[in-house]
Amino acid sequence: MNTAPRPLVDRFGRVHTDLRVSLTDRCNLRCTYCMPAEGLDWLPRDGVLGDDEVVRLVRIAVERLGVASVRLTGGEPLLRRGLTGLVARLAALGVDLSLTTNGIGLARTAVGLREAGLGRVNVSLDTLRPERFAAITRRDRLADVLAGLAAAKAAGLGPVKVNAVPVRGTNEDEIVPLAEFAVEHGYRMRFIESMPLDAQGAWDRTAMVTAQEILAALGKRFDLVPVGRHGSAPAEEWRIAGTDAVVGVIASVTRPFCGGCDRVRLTADGQLRNCLFATEESDLRALLRGGADDAAVEAAWRASVAGKGPGHAIGSAEFVRPDRPMSAIGG
Ligand code: SF4
Repeated sequence: MNTAPRPLVDRFGRVHTDLRVSLTDRCNLRCTYCMPAEGLDWLPRDGVLGDDEVVRLVRIAVERLGVASVRLTGGEPLLRRGLTGLVARLAALGVDLSLTTNGIGLARTAVGLREAGLGRVNVSLDTLRPERFAAITRRDRLADVLAGLAAAKAAGLGPVKVNAVPVRGTNEDEIVPLAEFAVEHGYRMRFIESMPLDAQGAWDRTAMVTAQEILAALGKRFDLVPVGRHGSAPAEEWRIAGTDAVVGVIASVTRPFCGGCDRVRLTADGQLRNCLFATEESDLRALLRGGADDAAVEAAWRASVAGKGPGHAIGSAEFVRPDRPMSAIGG
């Protein structure tokens, strides 16, 4: 493509340069705040985008729409067959490439992913207690996650970020221990307010630990120096005084950051979502499999973003839960 990309702008003037790509809806954990113990009806395999389709859509996004960063998500993206090869092809498009994972299998794949061109990883970890890990995820795999974190750091996939979702009555007493763990190992800690995107539809706002509560807990242990937010990044950050360590809070519910949103999402079955909480999707897979050219795909992408709403409206009468659960959207 020899013309410069034209920015992907919505009607509020937000420029979209960050693409989240879900590579699968399947997962090898069963987190209680995400899905039932028996799992979900997974997408049929032939409905999931193949590597060529993923690469083509990301290429269009980069060449025509000005996307500069791509985050690979799931379900659990490490379950994707041939992931390292796909990462190499995406990295060749010149994007800033990162991945969000539960860490299972990362100890085995970190070096290969780094060599293929992956830049950074975010690893989900809600507890440091094996019995609590098994209770939250319904799998006894804490040791694998800790090994995955260490391997990611050793492989240079940094800064290695640890994402934790505090839930009242479950793990809010580990906010400080998790932050201490991250500081000790040189990881970047981020706490995320839980969101109404679980497959069971059981999200309870009263069980959500707010950003204010998270900061209050941290403030009792650490002297926090505000750093603020980097551009349109979701996390507000604080440096721990006397260290280079930074801790972040993603307060999607109580301090929404929709006004500066630069994100669009592609699901594993090729549906474009202009917002994490979108209730409508654009079927890019049908366009690809229907023989559409790049210009037609670009037009559909622009139309979707042109129709993007101001934000998620959680807590207001307008809020409508999306049909698709977080596990099939990706972080
Ligand atoms: S809720 Fe939607 S608009 Fe708000 S930050 Fe998330 S993706 Fe962007």
